[in-house]
Amino acid sequence: MRNRVGDAVALNCLLSPIPRLPSPVPRLPPPVSRLLSSVFRLPSSVFRLPSAFPVHALTISATGSLDHVEFRTDIAPPALAGAGLVRLRMQAAPLNHLDLWTVRGLPGMQITPPWIIGSDGWGVVAEVAADVTHVHVGDRVVVNSGLSCRNCEYCNRGEQPLCVKFRVLGEHLPGTLAEELVIPATNVRAIPPSVSDAEASAFGLAVMTAWRMVVSRAQVGPGDDVLIWGIGGGVAQAALLFAKARGARVWVTSGSDDKLARARALGADETINHSGVDVGREVRARTGKRGVTVVIDSVGTATWEQSLGALGRGGRLVTCGGTTGHELTTDVRKLFWNQWTIMGSTMGNDAEFQAVVDELIAGRLALPVDSTIPLERGREALERLQSGTQFGKIVLRIGA
Ligand SMILES: [Zn+2]
Repeated sequence: MRNRVGDAVALNCLLSPIPRLPSPVPRLPPPVSRLLSSVFRLPSSVFRLPSAFPVHALTISATGSLDHVEFRTDIAPPALAGAGLVRLRMQAAPLNHLDLWTVRGLPGMQITPPWIIGSDGWGVVAEVAADVTHVHVGDRVVVNSGLSCRNCEYCNRGEQPLCVKFRVLGEHLPGTLAEELVIPATNVRAIPPSVSDAEASAFGLAVMTAWRMVVSRAQVGPGDDVLIWGIGGGVAQAALLFAKARGARVWVTSGSDDKLARARALGADETINHSGVDVGREVRARTGKRGVTVVIDSVGTATWEQSLGALGRGGRLVTCGGTTGHELTTDVRKLFWNQWTIMGSTMGNDAEFQAVVDELIAGRLALPVDSTIPLERGREALERLQSGTQFGKIVLRIGA
């Protein structure tokens, strides 16, 4: 029987325990890979030794804390064992808060150490299964890290993030922070040379998450006042970009005046330093008690009451996470009296992935990169993410 993209067989091959291979790892000498790179105009990491050799990866030996993060040079490359799959030579990957949750351990998460982390990235196609036609060897591609069964009622209506077998790279399947990645071809899109490496490196699930929240769920448009919490993060910055592009007036918060100043340069209309301030009251004071029409919240417990305090009559609140906690209190009287709509949102479907790739290709995703750090210093990058001091994406450089 022939497998189809997303079949359990294809996914199981990605879940197989990764055998330990001997080190030191044999590598193609850098001068040779650089020469091949210049001749073929492809990243030099594409010309490493063939895939039978171990790859470098950022892994965890157990869940719990960053103490378990290990850069490894002895990881077996994943097998391209099934129809509809592609092998990528990864070049760079932005970190997400999800990576920190993965390191700490998520409910129901089962890992086989050494477990490769990471849920984003871009790479160069090194191999394709015989039935793959929309990407080719040598293409630069970006990755959608949400894998769906493509056969359930949710997948059939185009809502892949609701799939009953939804899996995320790094969380349920080995992640992207490795020199090689094998995933379904449906989860990659080619990007032209006009997209710079830096633009590709800042792109990822934060952008797609923000698109679904702002465009699909809240349906932000002209006349909206949109409040976005924590403008240092990737989802918040992409949400700012999309809300401004739709003609909204955008409010942003941060605990740092420096970040607020930088957010103004990105287009923010109103800024609030949320340290020691009730943002709900502040918004009402500045809007003649009317409040905003949309709140984009990914903070959870610490901000929920203030988010509702800022939300005007008929307002929409969209949440994609709870970085400070998951338990929330909502006064149902305020909910029905103000006729609020409270929405959850996560990741994005195929159409939304294509939409944000189109934005990237059109050059409309000028998102800040906080720092670029080599993969072998991955723990340092995760510590920076954990500190919350970054403005924009922290990118790990994987390719040479
Ligand atoms: Zn499904």
